[in-house]
Amino acid sequence: MTYSYISHLYCPKCSKTYNTSEPHHLCTCGSPLLVNYDLEALSSSWSKDSLRDRNPDLWRYHELLPLQNPSYRVSLGEGMTPLLSLPALGKDMNILHLDMKDEGVIPTGSFKARGAAVGVSKARELGVKELAMPTNGNAGAAWSLYAARASITPTIVMPVDAPKITRNECAVSGARLFLVNGLISDAGQIISRAAQDPDIYDVSTLKEPYRIEGKKTMGLEIAEQTEWKLPDVILYPTGGGVGLIGIYKAIRELQRLGWVENGRMPRLVAVQSEGCAPIVKAWEEGRTESDFWEGAETMAFGINVPKAIGDFLVLEAIYESNGCAAAVSESSIQEEQQRAAQMEGTFVCPEGAAAFSAARQLRQKNWIKEEEHVVVLNTGAGIKYPDTVDLDIPVLQPGDALKRKV
Ligand SMILES: *Cc1c(COP(=O)(O)O)cnc(C)c1O
Ligand SMILES: [Zn+2]
Repeated sequence: MTYSYISHLYCPKCSKTYNTSEPHHLCTCGSPLLVNYDLEALSSSWSKDSLRDRNPDLWRYHELLPLQNPSYRVSLGEGMTPLLSLPALGKDMNILHLDMKDEGVIPTGSFKARGAAVGVSKARELGVKELAMPTNGNAGAAWSLYAARASITPTIVMPVDAPKITRNECAVSGARLFLVNGLISDAGQIISRAAQDPDIYDVSTLKEPYRIEGKKTMGLEIAEQTEWKLPDVILYPTGGGVGLIGIYKAIRELQRLGWVENGRMPRLVAVQSEGCAPIVKAWEEGRTESDFWEGAETMAFGINVPKAIGDFLVLEAIYESNGCAAAVSESSIQEEQQRAAQMEGTFVCPEGAAAFSAARQLRQKNWIKEEEHVVVLNTGAGIKYPDTVDLDIPVLQPGDALKRKV
């Protein structure tokens, strides 16, 4: 039995192809590389029925993942997160069918675990001993923990302002961790220079082709969880955009396998903060690439990416799916985080809250219709960002009596 139907890597810009037996990074033309599968062979040997007896984790889709030898698999049980119905919040937004794909319950506390599980497994299969990456926090945390499980040494550089808990996740797993007085783009430049050492495998966003394959599984799961019908709209908080590119790629592959109706594609929405919205600006101007966003700042740290290397792929996914891009205010992120907790009992991360805020905004503009099926990606756990909640709590003295609110 073939574990993976991977065939080769290809460049989405110049179509050059590469093998999958050696480490590769960007194409010689500077573009990220994508993974191709032999979908024709796969379609005749794989059926939906074969999924029935598999574990509820992302490896259930191993035929559509790049790892060729399962003995290199590095797993903490990631994947098959709940697709949770949110009737009260939906009603509040006047969206009748609102679901949340909840990545807050995944190992390491964010969906970055998916990219790390597949990326680290493939790195191990390729014989990698040391890896390095810039991060806004969650990716570094996930890759550090998975690398520890794979006995690979990680070097991580993150902004001093990144969420503190993610530092701890890197440090406790034994990563070489550095803070930079700047943005993720500054961390990226430092890593690029370090990775000129051939022993260091650069796993910066989209500089290795396999992370996206892990994130792709969110799209596969949404398809399976909707019984291959797919929602009408998927909203995704977009930083580097890997998740959005991955979801789009997943659905295209399922179309070609004949597992979802041909031509059935949810409208994909890239959500950003008004404090850092390069993709939104490019989309509003009808362009196919984005400009560097000066002075980027948002509490939704995972989407604080002033220029994404895969921006053209994000924009392509938006245009091809008849989707859109939307920016939301910082205050609306906090409000939506509170509403989700108060109405539904779910403590979403600020990035996820941004996506809920965009859903509300797009419903108000009637871009989303009342009866449409809407899926919002909550990309991480709210408990990783304790400082996003403003507190004013009364302190009692021993023996004090409580007053009932009047
Ligand atoms: C990294 C991150 C994002 C953005 O993901 P991309 O795939 O880079 O766009 C969104 N939310 C959280 C919580 C993240 O950590
Ligand atoms: Zn190329």
